[in-house]
Amino acid sequence: MFNIDEKVSALCREAEKSVRPQFERIDEICKSNTMKVHRAFYNNRISEAHFSGTTGYGYSDRGRDDLDRVYADAFECEDALVRHSIVSGTHALCIALFGLLRPGKTLLSVTGKPYDTLDEIIGIAGKKGQGSLTDFGVKYRQVELKDGRIDTDAAIAAMDDTVSVVFIQRSKGYASDRRTLSSREIGEAAKAIKAKYPGTAVLVDNCYGEFVEEHEPVYYGADVIVGSLIKNPGGSIARGGGYMAGRADLIELISYRLTSPGIGREVGATLGQNLDMYRGFYMAPHITAQALKTSVFCAEVYRRLGFKVSPEPEETRSDIILTVTLGAESLLRAFCQGIQMGAPVDSYVTPEPWDMPGYQNKVIMAAGAFVQGASIELSADGPMREPYIAYVQGGITWESGYLGVMLSVQKLLSEGLIKI
Ligand SMILES: *Cc1c(COP(=O)(O)O)cnc(C)c1O
Repeated sequence: MFNIDEKVSALCREAEKSVRPQFERIDEICKSNTMKVHRAFYNNRISEAHFSGTTGYGYSDRGRDDLDRVYADAFECEDALVRHSIVSGTHALCIALFGLLRPGKTLLSVTGKPYDTLDEIIGIAGKKGQGSLTDFGVKYRQVELKDGRIDTDAAIAAMDDTVSVVFIQRSKGYASDRRTLSSREIGEAAKAIKAKYPGTAVLVDNCYGEFVEEHEPVYYGADVIVGSLIKNPGGSIARGGGYMAGRADLIELISYRLTSPGIGREVGATLGQNLDMYRGFYMAPHITAQALKTSVFCAEVYRRLGFKVSPEPEETRSDIILTVTLGAESLLRAFCQGIQMGAPVDSYVTPEPWDMPGYQNKVIMAAGAFVQGASIELSADGPMREPYIAYVQGGITWESGYLGVMLSVQKLLSEGLIKI
């Protein structure tokens, strides 16, 4: 029915065989994380009563308050805020940054320039007067990674007493030339920086990292992690939202920015979203494992076709993103169009590059998701710039991920862009 060339299906069958050992490792991590989530449900006595939503102010919403506890316990930290009303990962990061920074203080990124959508929050792009951190008198500087790792010496040298937030981005995001950092190395850098500057808070953009490893960065010493519920922790079931988790005193400060000073976490109607958020979190370790299998498989297939992939299929993972360097606009476009054909929703449409709010280049996005833009579902995107890299992530069942990857190869072959 898909007119898959025999050479394409043979390539995929062979690739699948050779990545089976990686699948075993993924399954082990999944079991360990599933146990942690399960234990968090048990310890917090989650029952049906948690799933009914409140309206209006949302006072005494037990579902909301205990979901915060479940996240905190599963992520092995003191406290968390999980809200469907956080519109995206960028919004969650924005709330956390404004919650922790004050005029005259400094934000120091130790992983180079943060993810594109943070530029306008910080005020290093976009128009003045939007209310960026810069507009509010927060200073910003950054330290580059060294050989793909946090340069702890340079980070400490760049510190002073005005630095109240040290920012670490775990995932490579749209920076193809960097590694994704492991939870452990993030925690170790955080501890080294805080040994000299105990007053600083280490904030981690944890997008795409949740449940990929056995522990999150807060377990190893980071102070706060932040992420999106249409990525890993929503388990493809949450309809939207974001979270922050970590040290209780910092989560309290963030809660005053989430709603308002004096009110904090006491309000916030859940409007019937609790069931999906609980169920999604319960499934998140498994769904993340499905995405990882899809990613490892895709890496193997495209490496066999001669493309540069990162990480390599056998590398240890710390996020669900795979980059495939396609090298030309036509290939990136065809690749994304092939992935789109493997989507459950909108599989008949053809993605084209467009200007997206918050991004500095045109971006092509393949996403046919049940939840709009959910990148825990199979998706591929890339900014239209050299060297035309596709960022591939998601896949809520490994079998559908397999299909999507196979269709992308078929599309490249049909357009005469590759030879097999
Ligand atoms: C997805 C992502 C974000 C936030 O993006 P949204 O589209 O706003 O959710 C931030 N940082 C990284 C590294 C990401 O992958």
